[in-house]
Amino acid sequence: MTVPKAFLKQNRKKRLEQGHPWVYPGEIEKIEGDPQGGDVIHIVNHAGHFLAQGFYNPLSQLIIRVVTYSETEVDENLFFAKIEQAWQRRQWLLPEATSCRVVHGEADFLPGLIIDKYEDVLVVQILSLGIEVRRQWIFDALKKIFKLRGIYERSDVPVRRLEGLEERVGFVEEPFDTRVTVCENGLSILVDVAEGQKTGYFFDQRENRAALKPLMTGWGTRRGIHVQGNGQPIDAKGKEIKNPFWNGAEVLDCFSHTGSFMLHACLFGAKKVTCIDVSEKAIEMAKGNALLNGFLHRTEFVAANAFDFLRDQVKGKKTWDVVILDPPAFAKSRQALEGALRGYKEINLQGMKLVCNGGILVTASCSYHLSSTLFLNMLQEAARDAHKVLRLIEFRRAGIDHPVLLGSEETDYLKFAMYEVFDR
Ligand code: SAH
Repeated sequence: MTVPKAFLKQNRKKRLEQGHPWVYPGEIEKIEGDPQGGDVIHIVNHAGHFLAQGFYNPLSQLIIRVVTYSETEVDENLFFAKIEQAWQRRQWLLPEATSCRVVHGEADFLPGLIIDKYEDVLVVQILSLGIEVRRQWIFDALKKIFKLRGIYERSDVPVRRLEGLEERVGFVEEPFDTRVTVCENGLSILVDVAEGQKTGYFFDQRENRAALKPLMTGWGTRRGIHVQGNGQPIDAKGKEIKNPFWNGAEVLDCFSHTGSFMLHACLFGAKKVTCIDVSEKAIEMAKGNALLNGFLHRTEFVAANAFDFLRDQVKGKKTWDVVILDPPAFAKSRQALEGALRGYKEINLQGMKLVCNGGILVTASCSYHLSSTLFLNMLQEAARDAHKVLRLIEFRRAGIDHPVLLGSEETDYLKFAMYEVFDR
């Protein structure tokens, strides 16, 4: 059987050769053969030279998604090998991790496939027709590679429509308890893979959460507390300090969801963390996680809309040493970018105002439509309006289990910055 061929135009930008994993309809000169949606197709240049193989979907703007740059047959064995290699890469780069992202779509050369490992549970999300029609190959490979309690599918995302697919959620085979306690940086975090955001948890910020460590202590000293020769801390007025976390930060964790930032803040010595999330369920989950790790007495929880909460706190002249903003993607499409930018600016502006002079703003965005440049411009405008000067401690991206392909900015979506905030 001859594989159908897509001839690319001569005068196109050489994006595919630069590592970009998608072909758009306008780049195709002609198609030879009669490929059906989901079929493998050979991508060749105008002269017929082989470039790659991909999944074809005429319904999608991403009409071809690259699967392999070799001419090897795209079969069950290839899928098995790709998933196994992806897992080996995580074991190599994150030897401690028992829970992480195992397959990150295009960046693992499995376009439109996400696999997250939550200890002995795997969560699969399928975002392309080419993967959808081969779903059984994936489940078979996973059962061979991992010792599993079960697989859960979280293909409940509207982008599937763009591929002509309905949303789907549920157990792949036998049902099991969808609550899993994952271990991260020594913490226990209870997540529900059926109920939580996305696939249940956000592994992409693992290293970013760990980066909070140096920021969580030193605040008591700044406030004039010092330790006497006998080891007893006293404040500037000579009063004895009893709280063992006297030197820790007071932290506001906005959009707390599972409370993963709060848990790390406590682990690293925070004195008090306030979690806020609009979802009661999320607040319950964060509270449960504080309890699970013995941090309940250092935490408080507010179910509220962050926009209102932040504004109210500014009005009340409240400040924190560290304010963390980890909002959901406000910009789900390019068209939504303008409105999203207003949202990001608003929370950042209010967030900055809530940071004490010399304190820290930790701010993130997971919208890939919001480029790093736009993100930084937005922060600059917010700082200007808030009368603050920001000094960068560190700018970070997604963790090592969310690889980024050079030439594919779509895989580089997460921005995470830690700033010192000074009054102006
Ligand atoms: N920091 C979290 C992940 C954030 S996910 C973690 O570490 O797990 C985004 C969260 O924002 C969700 O839990 C959602 O309920 C919450 N959210 C969305 N809109 C909100 C709003 N307007 N105010 C407060 N929380 C909001």
